[in-house]
Amino acid sequence: MPRVELKNVGLNYHTIGGEVVALQDVNLAIEDQEFVAIVGRSGCGKSTLLSLVSGLLKPTRGLVTIDGEEVAGPNQRVGYMLQQDYLFEWRTILDNALLGLEIRKEKTPEAVAEVKDMLKAYGLAGFEHYYPPQLSGGMRQRVALIRTLATKPDVLLLDEPFSALDYQSRLSVGEDVVKILRERKKTVIMVTHDISEAVSMANRVVVMTPRPGKIRSQHRIDMCDEGLTPLQTREEPRFRQYFAVIWKELNADD
Ligand code: ADP
Ligand code: MG
Repeated sequence: MPRVELKNVGLNYHTIGGEVVALQDVNLAIEDQEFVAIVGRSGCGKSTLLSLVSGLLKPTRGLVTIDGEEVAGPNQRVGYMLQQDYLFEWRTILDNALLGLEIRKEKTPEAVAEVKDMLKAYGLAGFEHYYPPQLSGGMRQRVALIRTLATKPDVLLLDEPFSALDYQSRLSVGEDVVKILRERKKTVIMVTHDISEAVSMANRVVVMTPRPGKIRSQHRIDMCDEGLTPLQTREEPRFRQYFAVIWKELNADD
């Protein structure tokens, strides 16, 4: 059984000006521990698709399931990470990382120890008592990821998670994030408009059409299946080939 499945999913937004068809006939099955990247132009419905998986939105048509169960609302199984890190400037790094646990009233000594271990393992040792403005963008994004992982979701949704970072940080945080998510055996859906980010990080790249968003094509990325890291993948001649094909598809239909 797929970890996440969308069957004939459609979503309409109701606005003063009428109905907007954001998604149409979306069929997608994502296996456990798969990293799927979704690329498409701005406004094609990428964030809408993640909102459906997270349970923040209900589909107008079709069905969204996690482990075969209908997604009926926001739930523990899913962690959501956004472009902005939403760290609270007045809380320390440790207290920010503990926020999700605190909200769920799960801040046990064991859980706190585990978060401290993650901060150490992921390059933030010694920064526990710093405040977010004292950290680089890349470090802040790692804190946001640890905060998301702390509540132990099986499925992670990443919505353009690196687009606020400069190019160098994007490369190094991308490398770290893939390492962390592979180690922790997470199932990931990442939305991006950056083709090279998608090809370098994912097992599979899903290309969407402009609005109304439909799935145009899907590409298996061998390098990720072979265990290469994003930076290693970018060095591969195959990387350029994937890029060229997907770029063409994204720019084909108007
Ligand atoms: P993407 O993330 O790919 O840029 P979105 O999923 O945010 O696209 O939006 C898809 C389409 O739906 C866009 O045309 C957007 O204007 C429209 N849309 C998004 N959210 C709403 C909303 N709350 N109400 C009305 N229209 C919306
Ligand atoms: Mg979006």
